[in-house]
Amino acid sequence: MNALCGRVFDIKRDCSEDGPGIRTTVFFQGCPLRCLWCQNPEGQARSSRESASYDGSRWYTLEELRYRVLIDRPFFDSTGGGVTVSGGEPAHQMPFVGAFLSSLQREGVDTAIETCGFFNYMHFEKYLLPYLNRIYFDLKIMDEASHQALTGQSNRPILENLLHLKRASEVPVMVRVPLVPDMTATVENLTFIGQFLRNHDIRKVTLLPYNPLWQDKAVRMGKRRHLDAGFMTPEQLADCARQINSVLN
Ligand code: SF4
Repeated sequence: MNALCGRVFDIKRDCSEDGPGIRTTVFFQGCPLRCLWCQNPEGQARSSRESASYDGSRWYTLEELRYRVLIDRPFFDSTGGGVTVSGGEPAHQMPFVGAFLSSLQREGVDTAIETCGFFNYMHFEKYLLPYLNRIYFDLKIMDEASHQALTGQSNRPILENLLHLKRASEVPVMVRVPLVPDMTATVENLTFIGQFLRNHDIRKVTLLPYNPLWQDKAVRMGKRRHLDAGFMTPEQLADCARQINSVLN
């Protein structure tokens, strides 16, 4: 497959949670992390050798993918919406995703990325950053050993990339923390994240409530079920918000 094709495992129209207005979210195949609670386990595999789930995704040319998302152009225009690239990790397919975002921006379409932050900064700066209107940047776990154990990768490049973006870019970066009971949603972890952000003058964070529905998907894919936690209660969510905000503000 030539370089101007990208591998996509899902496209969702009419999304209202992945940025302003009505959006179409494109889920790109492949992720360098292996979070135990991954909501999209079918998007993790980076090659057919890695997993049979790769077969559920398909290649798109730039023109095909543009055509798919621009069908909803009238909704983007009337609501201030646009296109969000997600995954997996969209930075895993940088040249193609960059060309896709650039072509959308040329059309005046708002662009956003949801990223786990684990990428080569120089490549991100070259291929993606010039063509983004906003960045949703996930922070998960501050303790290095726990991050490695629960996501399969070090958190150092992620933290460094966040600080690089904050220092060097004018694109708004929104930090988000996916809440996972007993993993990311602990008093200790939320306190450490709050301290890290405050020390770098980042005063706002969005908490993403845990959604346990991924487990059915994982079981269907033959992956082991790792967590028994259900939906978080409003009280648990409020506790998490209180905890991190008490450190941030
Ligand atoms: S970073 Fe996101 S897509 Fe990648 S493994 Fe973690 S939860 Fe899944």
